[in-house]
Amino acid sequence: MSRRQPKLTAYHPDGSECPTTGPDRHRLSPRGYPRTDGCTGRATWIAVCQCGWRNQADLKVVPDDNRRRHTCP
Ligand SMILES: [Zn+2]
Ligand SMILES: [Zn+2]
Repeated sequence: MSRRQPKLTAYHPDGSECPTTGPDRHRLSPRGYPRTDGCTGRATWIAVCQCGWRNQADLKVVPDDNRRRHTCP
């Protein structure tokens, strides 16, 4: 049985996406301060699943944890 995990995305305070993977990802210090030009920091994290489920929180650990436990209805 294949199971796709919901996608987790970080967003800047203005609502634009803050890339967390790939060559253009934004780098942040361990304390969360932006180290990439144009990056304003990560204000919120949203996990979205194909089934319509979504989970949002200020801290990455919350939706990241919830998406690992998520099973589609
Ligand atoms: Zn950013
Ligand atoms: Zn789902």
